Amino acid sequence: MTEFELIRTFFARQPVSRADVAAGIGDDAALLRPPAGQLLAVTSDLLVSGVHFLSDVDPHSLGHKALAVNLSDLAAMGAEPAWFLLNLALPEVDAPWLERFCAGMFDLARAYNVQLVGGDTSRGPLVIGIEAHGFVPEVAALRRSGARAGDRIYVTGTLGDAAVALRHRLGKQRLSGDDFAAVVERLDRPVPRVHEGVALRGLAHSAIDISDGLVADLGHILEQSQVGARIFLDKIPLSPVCQAHVGKSGWEAPLAMGDDYELCFTVPPKNTEALEKLQFACGLHCIGEIEAEPGLRIVDESGKPYHSTFTGHDHFAESKQGDT
Ligand code: ADP
Ligand code: MG
Repeated sequence: MTEFELIRTFFARQPVSRADVAAGIGDDAALLRPPAGQLLAVTSDLLVSGVHFLSDVDPHSLGHKALAVNLSDLAAMGAEPAWFLLNLALPEVDAPWLERFCAGMFDLARAYNVQLVGGDTSRGPLVIGIEAHGFVPEVAALRRSGARAGDRIYVTGTLGDAAVALRHRLGKQRLSGDDFAAVVERLDRPVPRVHEGVALRGLAHSAIDISDGLVADLGHILEQSQVGARIFLDKIPLSPVCQAHVGKSGWEAPLAMGDDYELCFTVPPKNTEALEKLQFACGLHCIGEIEAEPGLRIVDESGKPYHSTFTGHDHFAESKQGDT
């Protein structure tokens, strides 16, 4: 199969359904029409075999996740996704593998009406780079820098499930078949909180998506907003499986292992009523409050300070190398 057959067979098959795509795959560059008066939100994420995923991962999940993590970044800006590019290095043309990878990716693309408009393909060790574009009205963009003292801190969904599933898959901990089944989708097929991010426009002061763990990612909001926070362990939303895990192994999974792809955001008290009326299907929990004093204070179930030594996932930290 030639490179062009590969592109035609696998990547150019999504019908162009968006009116803002004047030219998609097939020319030297895509031609796109961003809506007048909105900001273009642009993000990219790189997934490297052996670093971000195990080499034997199900390609359908991989295609889903590669796009989902980018849509999650757009959601955290309050942006509505529109287009994406796919940069792929492949060791060989494995047609069944590519078929499953594309099915996972395009199923998710269809669910959010995002169009693949270009990319690049090369032989090499398996690396997947996706760049996604979305739109957000200038005044409505949700930045990390907007948190103010008094804001309530919220998270969508539940935290720690992907981490618990990963620990099981790596053989570091054993889950029953039912328990693994209850959390594995959170690891392999995260649902980007796109509708929730758009709904937060005009309500939230700041937002981030949790990819490196709550402590690290909330830490980015605190640093960029030059504020501090107090959060309560007993308010952190946990699934029953994660709750049981925390009882045995402590708080690292929901606080620091990441891969949650939930939104963490801050809302001024005047907007909390409107927020809670939104009734997100994924769930929504207030876990604490922004304070003027810098630093993150975590309070445990008995009201005592909890000292976290977790730093979140960092690819270049000395002691941790590529396990997520
Ligand atoms: P060029 O050599 O001009 O960069 P390519 O041969 O790399 O062109 O790509 C031809 C067309 O196919 C372009 O429109 C490009 O965006 C698209 N394309 C290439 N690889 C991919 C891919 N992995 N996913 C989507 N589109 C791709
Ligand atoms: Mg090219």
